[in-house]
Amino acid sequence: MTALTVQGVTKSFDSTRVLDGVDLHVPERSLTAVLGPSGCGKTTLLRLIAGFADPDSGSIDFGDQPMFTTKRSMPPQHRRVGYVPQEGALFPHLTVSANIVFGLSRGARRNETRLRELLDLVGLDTAVAGRYPHELSGGQQQRVALARALAPEPAIVLLDEPFSSLDAGLREETGRAVAAAIRHTGATAVLVTHDQSEALSLADQVAVMREGHLVQLGTPVTVYRSPHDPGVASFVGDAVLLPAEIRDGRAFCALGDLAVRNDIPGGPAQVLVRPEQIRLHTSTHLSGVDAVVEDVSYYGHDASARLMLLPDGPLVTVRLLGVDLPSPGTAARLTVTGDTLAFPTA
Ligand code: ATP
Repeated sequence: MTALTVQGVTKSFDSTRVLDGVDLHVPERSLTAVLGPSGCGKTTLLRLIAGFADPDSGSIDFGDQPMFTTKRSMPPQHRRVGYVPQEGALFPHLTVSANIVFGLSRGARRNETRLRELLDLVGLDTAVAGRYPHELSGGQQQRVALARALAPEPAIVLLDEPFSSLDAGLREETGRAVAAAIRHTGATAVLVTHDQSEALSLADQVAVMREGHLVQLGTPVTVYRSPHDPGVASFVGDAVLLPAEIRDGRAFCALGDLAVRNDIPGGPAQVLVRPEQIRLHTSTHLSGVDAVVEDVSYYGHDASARLMLLPDGPLVTVRLLGVDLPSPGTAARLTVTGDTLAFPTA
């Protein structure tokens, strides 16, 4: 079993620095999601770990084995890495079984038991073994791509937005199956994604990247509950960020006087409230902050409403159950449950 350690990695293309001193440690047998907006350098980082390109500086180790130092770079075929690209990239002229065993030695390719094990691992029926990629659904294709990557028993599995072309339902189901298969093999995995719910639900730790920097590395609960800054807060979920004044551990803001859970000196700040913390009451007998419903977005399983705090803003987002939704124009009282996080402002 192999941990992955990236230290001080930088990479520029022409004069543009795409990665700037990235440090990342992925413990053995765990899955880390690298989460960040388009263009922040996620795929570049993955390609450097795989050995498809070299960093300008820094180091990459698998366990105690150096893969890259400024003096030496291990070729990709010797790194024991399994790579699952965005669209699976299966060989269209080969059957599922031929795709899966493609990277194995000639002897191992004839091992029917191993093939069945791999199909089973990724949750595919042996009946698909003789089919061609175009005879599979997108989710099945991604599972075959994972089985192909896992076949040579890699130490590290790298997945580059493997579910991005799948529809929402299939994405969740395939994501769960893929994460379970990787955990079962005991490989160490890095999943690149720009989808925060995928990162939070599948990974043991989340590495949040922004403009070539790793801004936060933590468990899903930590990055959601204790984001490093307001930018991370907004990127890993919906965030209501309000100007506040901190006094005696409480934030005085447009949503009232709220408990703050982090240690922060008195003075101006931004306070983070998650939309699911805000309760909307249509009864005006309750105490709370007066607001009026601007609009409602219905998602089926739940909904969100934007409300204008009276008299003149700001707008805040509130998460609601998908039943008995208020109409635009409804008068409401808002209260906040739980504590909040505050960020000092200069
Ligand atoms: P996305 O989520 O859109 O795939 P990303 O976070 O994975 O984005 P990268 O693909 O790593 O981002 O690209 C980061 C930046 O580096 C982009 O501005 C991209 O245009 C640039 N880049 C990547 N590869 C090369 C290359 N081979 N030559 C020149 N520029 C490149």
